Amino acid sequence: MSYICIKKSGEKIAVSKILCVGANYSDHIAEMNPGKPAELPKEPVIFMKPPSAIVHDGENIIFPDVQSELHHEVELIVVIGKDGKNIKAGDADSHILGYGIGLDMTLRDLQAEAKKKGRPWTIAKGFDTSAVISEIAGKNEVNQVKDLPLKLFINETMRQEGRTSKMIFTVSDIIVYLSKFFTLCRGDVIFTGTPKGVGPVQPGDHLRAVLGEYAEVSVSVKKI
Ligand code: MG
Repeated sequence: MSYICIKKSGEKIAVSKILCVGANYSDHIAEMNPGKPAELPKEPVIFMKPPSAIVHDGENIIFPDVQSELHHEVELIVVIGKDGKNIKAGDADSHILGYGIGLDMTLRDLQAEAKKKGRPWTIAKGFDTSAVISEIAGKNEVNQVKDLPLKLFINETMRQEGRTSKMIFTVSDIIVYLSKFFTLCRGDVIFTGTPKGVGPVQPGDHLRAVLGEYAEVSVSVKKI
């Protein structure tokens, strides 16, 4: 549950918090606001998931007992390797342990209702099993993290595809911004936002998310 696992070494590191960026790809902002001009955020949109929401490779996403569509959002994951506060852009890379692929599972109807009423997204984004995280590849193993393909397959059909080069706020921008408000601790996880192509999953679906040649995670969707 509340840890991430390092690829190759198998080392497990406790997670103290999961920070997530919303609205970080303009094509996703456009799909969430059909018919409106895409309004780009001036600062990253931030929300959190509890560490108890983590799901690892081979485990299950449990569909909560509520009336809502459950959507997939495939995202680049960044894990912090060194504690830091007020991190400067030039130092951001030194605080990164590695990268992985994740799914920001979202109860879309509940999120839409919360947005409409100006209420927090906590339940829609932070319910148990909402944070699917692959094993983490060390940053030195990952080339060109600024332009890597993200892919999500459902029952082996590709359903979502993007490239990290399309992020509005880069990994460095996100670390600088977050560390103004939160002390970033070793093991903290950052979800960096999803490209377009989000959509519903159903009980029985098999999801496989892939970050280039570096990380992959497979999970199944179950109903309680
Ligand atoms: Mg997301």
